[in-house]
Amino acid sequence: MSEQEATTFLESVDLCFNRAASALKLPKGLARQIRTCNAICEMKFGVEIQGGYEIFTGWRATHSEHVLPAKGGIRYAPFADQQEVEALAALMTYKCSIVSVPYAGSKGALKIDPKKYSIEELEHITRRFAQEMDKRGLLGPGINVPAPDMGTGQRMMSWIADEYQKLHPSDINAQGCVTGKPVHFGGVEGRVEATGRGVQYGLQEFFRHKDDLSSANLEGTLEGKKIIIQGLGNVGYHAAKFLQEQDGALIIAILERDGAIINEDGLDIDEVSKYKSEHGKVEGFPNSKFIKSGNQVLEHPCDILIPAAMEGVITHENAPRIQAKLIAEAANGPVTFEADQILNKRGIFIIPDAYLNAGGVTVSYFEWLKNLSHVRFGRMDRRFVEAQGQKIIEAIESGIGKPLAPIAKEKLLAGPNEVDLVRSGLEDTMRVAYSEIKEQQLSNTKIEDRRTAAYALAIRNIADIYESMYL
Ligand code: NAD
Repeated sequence: MSEQEATTFLESVDLCFNRAASALKLPKGLARQIRTCNAICEMKFGVEIQGGYEIFTGWRATHSEHVLPAKGGIRYAPFADQQEVEALAALMTYKCSIVSVPYAGSKGALKIDPKKYSIEELEHITRRFAQEMDKRGLLGPGINVPAPDMGTGQRMMSWIADEYQKLHPSDINAQGCVTGKPVHFGGVEGRVEATGRGVQYGLQEFFRHKDDLSSANLEGTLEGKKIIIQGLGNVGYHAAKFLQEQDGALIIAILERDGAIINEDGLDIDEVSKYKSEHGKVEGFPNSKFIKSGNQVLEHPCDILIPAAMEGVITHENAPRIQAKLIAEAANGPVTFEADQILNKRGIFIIPDAYLNAGGVTVSYFEWLKNLSHVRFGRMDRRFVEAQGQKIIEAIESGIGKPLAPIAKEKLLAGPNEVDLVRSGLEDTMRVAYSEIKEQQLSNTKIEDRRTAAYALAIRNIADIYESMYL
């Protein structure tokens, strides 16, 4: 297949959807209704920059409105375009459905290289973008709730929230118009790490399923498994850090914009991240081999390959040479449809993006719930749980006739704080969704791989909502 014939990101998402829909019994036309992007708005606005005017182009797509609000990140990237936004919005619809968060899918992007602007300029641009979205009914806690994505972060989310609050001073739920805010500005503990943490929980769950492990020609636990990670940004950094520190995995290679570094004995993620922030690149990181054409390292032997940078990095061109046993899609759309077919034939197990990177939207949901309830998680029950722990200690001690060990007492006395509850809710979500996806595959002989199963689960759940609305 020539380069020109390769499918776009949007086509890949739609083809995966069609493959799953054809395995399900749905009323005529319903699959098309679910797949079609309801609306996409292109916005052009001028911002005064350094004494002149610069025109910016942004998009916000609302893929579905079968439930509201619609939810999805905002990306700042020089290569952003409308089709990419539509593809990402569609993935959001399926993702929310897979992890049972009551949102429809949306996505936004601004065609901009954020590195070229000062903080003050970025604030100005972001506030203008928020005004444009608000003006067109594309922002609000009950309508459309953005979040961070590639090139955006907490600070930008707080500018959007602040702008919305100024425009709607009487909206008591205004803070819930955007998620991924700093904790002191209505955010929730654990949101920054959430997508990477979700990747860790998803991988941990995979390792609990012995049949899935053997399908991937793997065995044992995550400990000592060789991992290659592409993209040491928000998602890649947190996933790699937790897998290394808590599961004992070895991060043997990191691919970044300037190239890749390899050390078969393992790279220290915090050290690499520090080096990258100081030098703006990974080249030159001590005790590692640098490879300029970083994408080649996707083909390096490893147990788990985690693409965590961007879409379309594994295509029909390199898929035949991938040597990983498992691909854990932390990024959105890293594997094209053709590559997916090749990898499936080769028996390489793929944990799909629509499930694996859903930790971000799951914890965004918790943040939104916190904003709407106006109370932090744990405030009502933490001391109550501690008091119950004290009663249990007293009962045990009187039963055994001696005091419990201090460490046991400490554990029984600790009531949950916000981050404990957020992580617990996220872990539960990732574990339940994994089993539901697997169940789709096991119960339908037409479904041959986990991505199709994930899409089928999403379509089934959304179809049920449509069918109950129209019956
Ligand atoms: P980010 O901007 O924080 O990090 C991206 C990283 O990838 C950066 O370190 C960048 O230098 C690197 N990178 C970019 N292009 C590269 C290339 N060609 N080769 C190697 N490295 C490259 O972005 P992020 O928020 O971590 O998002 C990464 C991916 O995860 C995207 O696909 C995004 O849509 C997806 N995602 C993000 C979230 C979230 O909560 N942030 C949630 C779900 C999915």
